[in-house]
Amino acid sequence: TRKPLIAGNWKMNNTISEGVVLTQEISNRFEKEWAEDVDVCICPPFTDIKPAKTVLDTDRCKVAVGGQNVYFQPKGAYTGEISVAMLKECGCSYCIVGHSERRTLFGETNEDVNLKAKALIEGKISPIVCVGESLEVRDDGAYIDYVCRQVEAAFAGIEAADAVTCVVAYEPIWAIGTGRTATPEQAEEVCAAVRATLGRLYGADVAEKMRVLYGGSMNEGNAELLLAQPNIDGGLIGGAALKAASFIAIIEAAV
Ligand code: 13P
Repeated sequence: TRKPLIAGNWKMNNTISEGVVLTQEISNRFEKEWAEDVDVCICPPFTDIKPAKTVLDTDRCKVAVGGQNVYFQPKGAYTGEISVAMLKECGCSYCIVGHSERRTLFGETNEDVNLKAKALIEGKISPIVCVGESLEVRDDGAYIDYVCRQVEAAFAGIEAADAVTCVVAYEPIWAIGTGRTATPEQAEEVCAAVRATLGRLYGADVAEKMRVLYGGSMNEGNAELLLAQPNIDGGLIGGAALKAASFIAIIEAAV
């Protein structure tokens, strides 16, 4: 039995002052006992992470913070990048890697995703590894193969003992920010295939322990049916994570 994870990806939204207000609203509405049944994480822009963490710590709120990206080198002349240690000191317990926006807009490759996941594991931050096909790949029909290959590439050289600390998020690109969510059956089909791939890599025992999330236009209206699928262990939420009421309603659907 896997504990669900609801992660909010704020993307490039909210300045520090706006982020503190949203975090405070989430903290105020988050009921302590939910933490037994669901893990919750918010992934704000880098500049908002520490202020958000301070709000949550002050409230003793068990919502975790995470990064949206990281660089794999430990330090040095990498202008504009952020290291694992920097995220760690801001209080991050998770970090998204390989989001489709990073892959398509910023040229991130499967190899980059693999290096970032390894660096995070080394720094004891759980990677949330994003995979997902474009509409073109979906329409071609070979989307399962495509997504499973992304999973294999992301986990290359990662051992089973470390893989269990990782999360995979299936985010079909055609469902992101479009309001066109995958049906529960479509999402379940790929999430089950992702778990089968993890099973081939690490054995069924490990694969059964790993969390596979769905992301793409998840909201308070569709979360319950998506989360009820046997291989969907939570959600990676974009737009609906920017309003406390919506985000809280999705958390409630997972409790
Ligand atoms: P939306 O929920 O806005 O579709 O975004 C999903 C996403 O990309 C989360 O990482």
